[in-house]
Amino acid sequence: MNILVINCGSSSLKFQLIDMEKNEVSAKGLVERIGIDNSRIKYEPTGKDEVEQITDIPDHTVAIELVLNSIIDKDHGVISSLDEISAIGHRVVHGGEEFNGSVLIDDAVIKAMEKCIDLAPLHNPANLMGIAACQKLMPNTPMVGVFDTAFHQTIDPVNYIYAIPYEYYEKHQIRRYGFHGTSHKYVTQRAAEILGKDVNEVNLITCHLGNGSSIAAIKNGKVIDTSMGLTPLEGLPMGTRCGNIDPAIVPFLGRKENMDYDAIDAMMNKKSGVLGVSGVSSDFRDLENASKEGNERAQLALDMFHNSVRKFIGSYFVQLDSVDAIIFTAGVGENGITSRAEICKGLKSLGIEMDDELNNVRGKDRIFSTENSSVKLMIIPTNEELMIAQDTLSLIK
Ligand code: ADP
Repeated sequence: MNILVINCGSSSLKFQLIDMEKNEVSAKGLVERIGIDNSRIKYEPTGKDEVEQITDIPDHTVAIELVLNSIIDKDHGVISSLDEISAIGHRVVHGGEEFNGSVLIDDAVIKAMEKCIDLAPLHNPANLMGIAACQKLMPNTPMVGVFDTAFHQTIDPVNYIYAIPYEYYEKHQIRRYGFHGTSHKYVTQRAAEILGKDVNEVNLITCHLGNGSSIAAIKNGKVIDTSMGLTPLEGLPMGTRCGNIDPAIVPFLGRKENMDYDAIDAMMNKKSGVLGVSGVSSDFRDLENASKEGNERAQLALDMFHNSVRKFIGSYFVQLDSVDAIIFTAGVGENGITSRAEICKGLKSLGIEMDDELNNVRGKDRIFSTENSSVKLMIIPTNEELMIAQDTLSLIK
């Protein structure tokens, strides 16, 4: 049985065709520059040569058509007909309070998704365009929506209400939602498997550290708190996003620099984080190299990031009765040997001890704490596409 996973952005689209019997990716790829010049599709069938095509891609329907044609192509296709695709799983960024899990898409679901557009004006319209394009081309294939926010819907008001007048929550649904939910859910399930425990019995702190980063506190398999908020801007300093800052900085800069809301929003999302502090790069590898060459601001940016991760871990410790493991995932979490070491070094007061040799690995499941450590430290490579495919499969069964 094959599930097609679609992650649709405003001008790009990522896809994976997953063979659910083998739990393997049969083909994956990326369509870029949809609706602009120089549009292209990169298609990678597993075990065959990669194909890149530069062609006119005016909209998402044409993009999906190209994806489907590639998958069934006589030469480089991986299945012989579209009938072999049992369902399509769509990544949707914001599910607001409408969705606390994945859902089979019908007209009512589309309406509810449309209600969430205000909360993610850059992402949800693109996700909806992808769904509409697939429905047009494959009207009889079941579609499932998988939301970045859904796994966090178990958070209590004490952790999701902001201390501003309550009417803004009632009027505009301003509250913490949290993101990267599909990743936090995937690593929670994997951690339970690796620890040999029922998923409803694991207590974890899951650290998704990539270009965008978020941390979640998991109690009995459910999220009780997470670092991102109404939008993915809150929490840790990230590649280009500022994370937590004093909110008064917004009006202060507005007045001092004569910046409007859009300019401040762009500054906080695109020019801040480790890029803003270092002035070097948003990429952690570049920062490590610059710091080795003596760039103090690159080191400062890295120190701030590591310290912020530790502070969240500390605050989640006091919210969890006990912690089975701290999980590291995503680009930096899976591959950043130095970052993991710097973060874990600062956790000694909690009785947490890292084994340097075990930490010396990239992108593999691994427990890297010492025998004496009070809490296990684990690396678990995330797999959001597989999680989307698994949710899709369970809903169509
Ligand atoms: P995204 O949020 O875009 O999905 P990723 O999860 O792919 O991001 O993470 C990208 C980040 O991972 C980049 O900052 C990159 O520098 C970092 N990264 C990747 N490989 C390494 C590595 N070997 N050492 C340190 N950081 C790494």
